[in-house]
Amino acid sequence: GGGGAAGGGEDRIVVSVRVRPLNDKERERCDPSDWECINNTTIISKNSLPERSMPPTAYTFDRVFGCEISTRQVYEEGAKKVALSVVSGINSSIFAYGQTSSGKTYTMTGITQYSIADIYDYIQKHEEREFVLKFSAMEIYNEAVRDLLSMDSSPLRLLDDPERGTIVEKLTEETLRDQSHLKELLSLCEAQRQIGETSLNEMSSRSHQILRLTIESSARELHSRDSSSTLAATVNFVDLAGSERASQVSSDGTRLKEGCHINRSLLTLGTVIRKLSKGRNGHIPYRDSKLTRILQYSLGGNARTAIICTMSPARSHIEQSRNTLLFASCAK
Ligand code: ADP
Ligand code: MG
Repeated sequence: GGGGAAGGGEDRIVVSVRVRPLNDKERERCDPSDWECINNTTIISKNSLPERSMPPTAYTFDRVFGCEISTRQVYEEGAKKVALSVVSGINSSIFAYGQTSSGKTYTMTGITQYSIADIYDYIQKHEEREFVLKFSAMEIYNEAVRDLLSMDSSPLRLLDDPERGTIVEKLTEETLRDQSHLKELLSLCEAQRQIGETSLNEMSSRSHQILRLTIESSARELHSRDSSSTLAATVNFVDLAGSERASQVSSDGTRLKEGCHINRSLLTLGTVIRKLSKGRNGHIPYRDSKLTRILQYSLGGNARTAIICTMSPARSHIEQSRNTLLFASCAK
């Protein structure tokens, strides 16, 4: 894992794979399932594709979730610890990575809801502290950052602040009254994502969505109010662009002609995560994309990361599924 000496015995990068069920279309065309989860950490391809001389391969991750596993369980075992580290003042990011239609949004939506419920539950159980929660949401489309809580869709600039790192200029940040306020804002984001787009699928295949919750807390008792009793951290829920945008090879194996099909933020994220998982020394190219600039302080340093790689079990998607598993392997 991406632990390292200062990891406090816990992996800083948790990588899991989730296989969704075959969908109706795949079943109708008798597209067989090519993968088998042989235990809760290992997945193998049943089809060795002898014509392409690919040997059957086993892939091992922190967790592998078969198609019968609920999002609740994926959350509990693949994301909860990372999400809840925010209440202890540790930044974190949770990503859904995978090709379009593999289940990223389905998985991330559930994980976000369960995380929020658990965070509020924690807050209620810790009356000795005072918590302030802030929420913001953005979308990165063609390297342009847009505020999902604003009706104004003009692109936002990134600024460097010597103290706070990269700041998204003019990004709306709502101070939350309660959990239902947050739910309202989540619905607003959902609606905003759809405005002005003819094809939601086309847009979501190209864009990254970042939902970010910042939590500050301090001890209520005056006498314990020293600097160490104040905590602040951010958790990011990231629904990534379709991973077919990360490679120059399309799903049918041919090279794409247009360079613009490749998503810079997705490519850079892959490089950053690979480098981080190999140890945190050396140059990490956060500055090469908007996504990695925005997430820099929730990726490196002491931050915790959970990556849930989603895939279709269908044979017709085997190339993309292999790419996803290779990405997941490199992240460990
Ligand atoms: P993506 O965001 O990766 O493009 P979606 O999350 O939109 O993919 O999923 C594509 C379709 O498959 C949706 O209709 C979704 O409801 C369904 N789906 C995805 N994952 C699962 C799952 N684990 N169980 C049941 N249905 C799923
Ligand atoms: Mg999606």
